[in-house]
Amino acid sequence: MLFDNPIYVGRPNVGDRAEFEALVDRIFESGWLSNSGPLVVELEARLADFLGVRNCVAMCNGTVALEIAARALGLTGEVIVPSYTFIATAHALYWQGLTPVFADIAKETHNLDPESVRQAITSETSGIVGVHLWGRAAPVDELQQIASEHGLRLMFDASHAFGNRHRGQMIGTFGEAEVFSFHATKFFNTFEGGAVVTDNDELAESVRLMRNFGFVDFDEVVYPGTNGKMPEVSAAMGLVNLDSIENVVERNRENHDAYRDVFAAETLVDLLLFDQRSGSNCQYVVIELAAGAVEYRDRLVADLHAENVWARRYFWPGCHRMEPYRTLFPESGERLPNTVDVAERVVVLPTGTAVTPDDCRLIGEFVVSRLRDYCAERG
Ligand SMILES: *Cc1c(COP(=O)(O)O)cnc(C)c1O
Repeated sequence: MLFDNPIYVGRPNVGDRAEFEALVDRIFESGWLSNSGPLVVELEARLADFLGVRNCVAMCNGTVALEIAARALGLTGEVIVPSYTFIATAHALYWQGLTPVFADIAKETHNLDPESVRQAITSETSGIVGVHLWGRAAPVDELQQIASEHGLRLMFDASHAFGNRHRGQMIGTFGEAEVFSFHATKFFNTFEGGAVVTDNDELAESVRLMRNFGFVDFDEVVYPGTNGKMPEVSAAMGLVNLDSIENVVERNRENHDAYRDVFAAETLVDLLLFDQRSGSNCQYVVIELAAGAVEYRDRLVADLHAENVWARRYFWPGCHRMEPYRTLFPESGERLPNTVDVAERVVVLPTGTAVTPDDCRLIGEFVVSRLRDYCAERG
């Protein structure tokens, strides 16, 4: 076996534990556990400052943040989303009574293809939810252009893109609102958590109202809201982890470089590259198997598991092939050839602070040697 201890994709990156415990002591001393306590307020201010946005509204998770953002934007009818994303992007809309309409991605970027978005627009379309997949910016300018031309609302699911930039501009500042997930597996985590960020103060006000049952005062409710509040203990984790994101990025970069060196000359594998200079958290190590190796994808993943390397297929088989969408819209796959193709090729490999560059080299070399073996067997 390659490793005695299991190596996982998405192992949490955790900052200074003593600092976290000191904050937890403060929570117990104050007795303030939730409802916009001092740590949530501090985290929101620090996140808004870090991202360069006017408003950051912290949430209990990214999915509720997406639901609240979609609702606060007043989306109705159909909303265009990629199918190649985590299922929550589509489910959040569906839970709000909206119809997710899937558009295709570009093969090179794995992000929405603007032409496919245009083709998905109908008289019922009210908005577009772009996803910055793997942390790489969606085609923000093209999507903004389409939204303006057709009078659509535009927001982004930035769950993968915390701390990333697009042409120097911080992700979090695009569209009318962006949503982050701070789930344990994400680059920056608060155990569970998320946020809606926006420069629109009025929109932020509605988001805050919806997050807290629609309360405007102790006993006055003006809106059928939900409970999207982040607890203090999550904010404590966030404050501590925010101090260590530079370390996490550095390790992710070293790991990514190690994989890149192994895969550089290998024609059976393509490693997705990030623009490290312009700013990327390098949280996802995504490989695509070339035409001659795609058929061995699941065998490769199983062989990695047998070596204690918990590599993953990701976003397989695409939202449109999961319920309820595959029953509701059985034909949508016909418009999504690139989604179907990419979903079959992708394997995500481990990185993060729990993994070293040497581990990555070993894993990368194992991937290459197995793929060569499979192909040699086939002859
Ligand atoms: C993780 C994730 C979500 C959901 O966030 P939670 O905090 O787990 O609810 C939504 N969209 C994408 C793209 C994600 O990766």
